[in-house]
Amino acid sequence: MAAKTYFSRDYADARQRFLDAAGAAGAALDARAHPLNGPAGEALFTDLAWLGPPEAERVLVTISATHGVEGFCGSGAQVGWLESGLTREQPAGTAHLMVHAINPHGFAWLRRVTEDNVDLNRNFVDHEAPYPENSGYEALTEALSPRDWDEAVIAESQAALEVFAEANGRTALQSAISGGQYRHPEGIFFGGRRPTWSRLLMEEIFEARLARAQKVAVVDFHTGLGPHGHGERICVHAPGSTALKRAAEWYRDDITSPALGTSSSIELHGCNEVGMEKALAGRELTAIALEYGTIPTPEVRLALCADNWLHHHGELDSPKGEAIKEQIRAAFYPDTDDWKEQVWERAVETLRLALKGLAQG
Ligand SMILES: [Zn+2]
Repeated sequence: MAAKTYFSRDYADARQRFLDAAGAAGAALDARAHPLNGPAGEALFTDLAWLGPPEAERVLVTISATHGVEGFCGSGAQVGWLESGLTREQPAGTAHLMVHAINPHGFAWLRRVTEDNVDLNRNFVDHEAPYPENSGYEALTEALSPRDWDEAVIAESQAALEVFAEANGRTALQSAISGGQYRHPEGIFFGGRRPTWSRLLMEEIFEARLARAQKVAVVDFHTGLGPHGHGERICVHAPGSTALKRAAEWYRDDITSPALGTSSSIELHGCNEVGMEKALAGRELTAIALEYGTIPTPEVRLALCADNWLHHHGELDSPKGEAIKEQIRAAFYPDTDDWKEQVWERAVETLRLALKGLAQG
C-alpha cells in the first residue's frame, strides 16, 4: 500500500483509523478522555495500543502529537505500522506500546501547544524550583507575540529578529525563541507553570504501563525542523552516557545530539525525556525524537507566531483565522505524497532498528 494512504485529514479521522487498525492487529486498547472538545465539538482522547505480551520486559514506545499539529506525521507512521502488517516483525518477548495523540487538543485544534498554550516538550521541569531564565526571549517578546497581526507588524517583527541574529548569531536566536520560556503565558514556546494534562498522563503511562519493563526504547515523532522530508534522530541523553552510546550503536551512528551541537535542535529546557527517565527510575531507556523537516525555519516560526496571535487576539471563525490555520497545518504537515513517502520510509527503518536494539543483549 502506498504510504500516503496511512495519513489522515484531521484528528478525528486519525483517531478512528488508529483504533480500527490497532483493533485489527489484535492490540489491547485503552483510552483517556481529554476534558475539552475539538473544534467540531468532537471528543478528544489519547489512545493506547499495546501489542505483544502484557508482561514483556522489553518495550518499544512510539508517541505521536507531543506537539499537537505535528501529530499528522506520527499518527501516519503508527497507522502505517499497523495497517502494513509490520507488527508481525515484532520479536518474541517484546511489546510495542503506541501512544496515539498524547496532546489531542493541539492535534485537533491545529496547534503545536496544549490547551493551556503550553509547549509540552518544555513542560517537564520542576515547577517548584526556580525556572530557567531565557534573556534572549525577553528581548524578543514584542516581536514574537505582537498585539496585532498584519503585514506591517510582521515586517517589523522579522526585522527585529534579524537584528538580534546579526548581533548574537543564529544559534542564539534559535535558543532565544525555541529553548523554552516560563515568564510569558501568552508567548510561544511557553513551558507552563504546572504540569499539563498531557504531561501528567505521560508520567502515568510510563509509571503504570511500563512498571515491568526493564528495557524501553522511545521514538517520539516530531515535525518542523531540519531539511524537508529528512527524519533526524535527535537524542538528548547526556554526552558520555551509556544511553547515548547505546543509541549510537542501535541507530548506526545516525543520531544527533543537541548537547554536542550536532543537531538541528538546540538544547531545551524541560523536554519529555526528563519525565521518562524519572518514571523509569534507573531502568534502561533509549529515547529519540524523530524530527522531520517541513519548510524553512523562518516560515515555521512565522506560522507559530500567527497561530499564537490568532488564539489570543484573533477570531478563529474568520477568513484571517482560516488562513492562519491553513498556514500552521502546512508548516507542520506538508500534505504531499513525496513527503509522506519519505516520512514512512525513515519511520520503518527507525522502528526496525529500535526493535532490533531492544531484542539484543
Ligand atoms: Zn515537535
